[in-house]
Amino acid sequence: MDLFSIDEQVGTGLILWHPKGVIIRNQIRDYWEREHQKNGYQLVCTPHIARQKLWETSGHLDHYKQNMYRFTKDGESYVVKPMNCPFHIQIYKTKPRSYKELPIRYAEWGTVYRCERSGTLHGLMRVRGFTQDDAHIFCTPDQVEGEVQKLLGFAQQMLARFEFTEYTAHLSTRDPQQPQEYMGSERKWKTAQKALAEALKKRNMPYTEMLGEAVFYGPKIDLNIVDAADREWQCTTIQFDFNLPKRFKIQYIGADGREHEVVMIHRAMLGAIERFVAIIIEHCKGNLPVWLAPTQVVVLPLTNDQLSFAEKVHQELLNRAVRSELDGDTSTISYRIRQAELQKTPYMAICGKKEASLGKVSVRKHGAGNIGLMTVEELVHKLTNENN
Ligand SMILES: [Zn+2]
Repeated sequence: MDLFSIDEQVGTGLILWHPKGVIIRNQIRDYWEREHQKNGYQLVCTPHIARQKLWETSGHLDHYKQNMYRFTKDGESYVVKPMNCPFHIQIYKTKPRSYKELPIRYAEWGTVYRCERSGTLHGLMRVRGFTQDDAHIFCTPDQVEGEVQKLLGFAQQMLARFEFTEYTAHLSTRDPQQPQEYMGSERKWKTAQKALAEALKKRNMPYTEMLGEAVFYGPKIDLNIVDAADREWQCTTIQFDFNLPKRFKIQYIGADGREHEVVMIHRAMLGAIERFVAIIIEHCKGNLPVWLAPTQVVVLPLTNDQLSFAEKVHQELLNRAVRSELDGDTSTISYRIRQAELQKTPYMAICGKKEASLGKVSVRKHGAGNIGLMTVEELVHKLTNENN
């Protein structure tokens, strides 16, 4: 489909996105940004590198060292970011925050680098450089339950847009026999685990509790989407963090005028975009929905005599923001139709002699064949309906 490549000279696990792949990425991102703004998130943008000091504070240097790309320049040590969290925390901390401002939700389409072992790398599924649809929520303990419920609803709505409506939910909790293995007070764990479980119940999402599977710094929910071939893919994660608020002293001023530690939730809806694109392609077997298809319409003149009419049709489609391609190649029409079928382009607009004289095109739909004569206007209308 000419979406991406991986090049030995560039490095394994590093994706080169081709023009058509970028269209898919950008379509996802535009949708993602719009929905996040509607749902009360603020978009932020943070650098790809930061001083090593930041990662000392976050604890990554101690616990995540082998996965980080590090370098020294002019005597100063830097880390190529494996995560976006510390940056969002530093934005939060640029001024004192009142409880009245909370929750604060920062979202970023953030590109991170992790040095995964080369044996584990696999196409778009497992890479070293990838973009997370990341967000961090800073809230008060009272807001936790409402936030988690909102998050689950938001995840369901977002995944449905990509035609994923089936998922399994996993709630990772701490092992009550080993409290010393975990950070944060018993009360915090109880509140967080209850909020996660209640939210799953309120959204009618059956779940499996994974006792003892929580990481040391907080419980989490994972949603695994089930694709058309019944395979499960982990995408959405909602993760509590009792560690970073301590390490970075992230606080807010409560109604009592005192400083309180903020509750921090990390979350990704789609996960790594590279992987998510691979999952979508697998799910729809390459037949992307019209809104994601890099080329929505291929315009095909029957012979060279209809080339100028076809050019006009193509330009009109472009003017109407339809992603159109003109295939004016001299090969036979059946060959070009076959090519468009192989590319899984949703629509073809065939321009023959009759069509040109009527000022219409013969429309073929991928997988359905000929669906009749239409004006460009009618075709645009059809595409717009499918887009929404
Ligand atoms: Zn995070």
